[in-house]
Parts: sequence; structure tokens; C-alpha cells
Amino acid sequence: MVKVKETLNPFDIAREQIDRAGKKLNLDSGLLEVLKNPRRELTVHFPVKMDDGKVRVFTGYRVQYNDAIGPFKGGIRYHWNVSLDEVRALSCWMTWKCAVMGIPYGGAKGGVICNPKEMSKGELERMTRRYASEISIIIGPEKDIPAPDVYTDSQTMAWIMDTISMNKGFAQPGVVTGKPLVIGGSLGRDEATSRGMMYATREAGKKVKLSLKGATVAVQGFGNVGSHYARLMHDEQGSKIVAVSDSRGGIYSEKGFDPKEVLAFKEKTGSVVGFPGTREVTNEDLLELPVDIVAPCALEGILTSENAPRIKGKIVAEGANGPTTPEADDILHKRGILVIPDILANGGGVTVSYFEWVQNLSEFFWTKKDVDEKLEGIMVSAFNRVWDMREAKKVDMRQAAYMVAIARVVEAYKWRGIFP
Ligand code: GLU
Repeated sequence: MVKVKETLNPFDIAREQIDRAGKKLNLDSGLLEVLKNPRRELTVHFPVKMDDGKVRVFTGYRVQYNDAIGPFKGGIRYHWNVSLDEVRALSCWMTWKCAVMGIPYGGAKGGVICNPKEMSKGELERMTRRYASEISIIIGPEKDIPAPDVYTDSQTMAWIMDTISMNKGFAQPGVVTGKPLVIGGSLGRDEATSRGMMYATREAGKKVKLSLKGATVAVQGFGNVGSHYARLMHDEQGSKIVAVSDSRGGIYSEKGFDPKEVLAFKEKTGSVVGFPGTREVTNEDLLELPVDIVAPCALEGILTSENAPRIKGKIVAEGANGPTTPEADDILHKRGILVIPDILANGGGVTVSYFEWVQNLSEFFWTKKDVDEKLEGIMVSAFNRVWDMREAKKVDMRQAAYMVAIARVVEAYKWRGIFP
């Protein structure tokens, strides 16, 4: 691991990003302080019976960052590196994400410190159900609505929905989004983050005069977001996917490949590494390949002052939350690389979560066409709002996105006032 100068603490980074936008907006210092702090933080330590009969205590969090605009919303992450500061940062980013997309939610996030790769399905189910019970005191369809994030999926959401419903005594589909279709999920939710990213990349391409047809793309992370993004860019935009990676490493081929075949290969072998006709690259090298579009779709803190000078893409599309440090942002901006910031680029996920929740509350379900068209409309307007702010204020895309988002939350405070 290369040493970097700047902090990689995600919550310090989130606060620095607020400060930067706050300064440009001339925000009152008291209000700035409000925006830099989470409203509510729940830490839970809970026992789970493991398959070997032993009891293990897990630690989980749910941070409800801000609900000035509407109910708290945000995913739940299972990862060995989960920490309170990470969940705080992720919940903070959810607040700006919902605000920049213009959907009526605040921001929250949850996480459990665990290694889901080393747990059986039964262990994961028991851990999920107990964690759901522990946080049930603060979640609910009108309060705080969780969703999938890193290493959680529709099965995880189904267990949470069932746990909450069992305790209520009736089915409560609106308590989580990202559910399987049969219990109230929405068509298009599984690929929504990536489809939204594709629309955002297309809009960015228009601005920097990059045609997506034939454009070369490197995708870091081949989980839900990265794999759908690679597929959609390949199938719907005719882009050339030349590199993808997962936690075990990456693959590169100048000629490009069909990401659907890579996915089938990964499902068989457990990794993208070794896919025929490609050579191996590291996750770090992948980011520096000579491509048009770099899409970090894994974890935070991977574009830093150390590697930003060597990034060659024209566009960086942030599928991951928080992949870029503020120092790296400055370098990329100076170098003329257009970064589509996470809160905008990957906002399609929570947008279709919102559609799912609306469908649950109204008990009326939409077609895939309805979902895709409404998603496209929201992505394109959000992109243009941010772009116009960038042009008007001569700032980079992240600052512009923060300024749009923060101005919206501040407007909510203006109307609601500070209680009491
Ligand atoms: N975990 C996703 C994100 O970071 C989705 C959140 C949601 O749908 O609530 O945006």
C-alpha cells in the first residue's frame, strides 16, 4: 500500500467536502455545524449463534444523518472494515445524494462489522435478523428505510422485511427497498445504480465531446454496481470494456471483452481473474490504464493525491461512495478530468429505491419502462442542475453537486426553523 499525505478517514473527508461547499454558499456558521453532524447514531452489540454452536458478538451501526427534507434513507453494508466513522460518512453522503437527485428523503446508513465471505447462509440470516431487531426501534416505512449496499442484497432485505413484519404482525414491505420482486421489490432496482450511472456518463460525454460508442472503460469492482454498469455501457452504449476487477485482482485486454461472459466466468470460478484473452492487472493499476472512462465501483479512498496525477481517463464516474479524496479532486480538476461525483453518479440506486417505496405505499406497481423512463428523467435533470452550478460558480463537479444539495437542505431548514 502506497502512503498518502491526506487523511483517508471518510468522515473527515465528508466534513471537508461540506466546508468547501459551505464556504462557496456563504453558509451561516451555526447551520454549517448542523450539517456537519449526524442527528442520531445507534451502536448495537448483539449475539449470533454460529454454525459450530458457539455464540459470537457482532457490532453494528445505524446512523441517521439528516431528515430535514424527509424520512431517513440509505443502505446497510456488511464488511470487515465497517467503522462508526465510515457509516457516518456514508449516511452524510446519502443526505446530499437524495437532495441532489431531488427525492424527498434525508440520509442514513447502516453497517455491521463482519466478513460475509466467511459466513454460511444460515449465519448471515441469523445475523441479519438480529441486527434488524436491534435497529427496529428506529427504522420503519415512515422513519428510516434501509436498502442494500456492499455485500448485502435482495435476500438480506427480504430477511429484514420479514423480521420487522413478524414483530408487527403484518407484512410491511415499505420498511426496506431493494427487495425481491415477489414481496414488493421494483422492476429495475437491481441495475438502477448502474443504469443511472450510464445516463450520467452519457450526459458527461456530451459535455466533454466523448462519444460513448467505442469509448474505452475500466471498471474497478465487479459487484452489483460495477458488473451492471459494464454490461449496460457495453450493450446499450456500444462502449469497449477493457478492464474490470474484483477483490482478488483485475483483468485487462486492449481489444475489450463482453462483460456478460466475464460475469458468467466469475460465477463459475469466484473471480474475474484468469478470464481468457486478458492479462492480469492490480486494482491500483487498473485505475491508471489509458482509457476514456474510469469507473471506481468498489470502496472509498482509492483516488488520492498519490495516483490522481497518473489517471488518464477523460471522465471518472463514481459508482462507489467516496472513492476520491478532496486532494485528488483538486488534482483531477486541474488536469481537466471530469469527475461525476458519487452523490450524482450513483444516485440512480436510491432513486429507484424511492420508486419502490412509492409503489409499496400506493400498492400499485410500475412497468420496467415506467421505471427506466422516470429514472432517466431524474438523472438527466440532476446532472444538468449540477452542470449549470459548475458553470455559474466555476467550481468542480463535486463542489457543484454539494452546493445544489446543501442549498436544498438549507432551504428546508429555512422553512422548518430550528426546533424549538
Ligand atoms: N446503498 C445505495 C447507495 O449508497 C442505495 C441506497 C438506497 O437505495 O437507499 O446509494
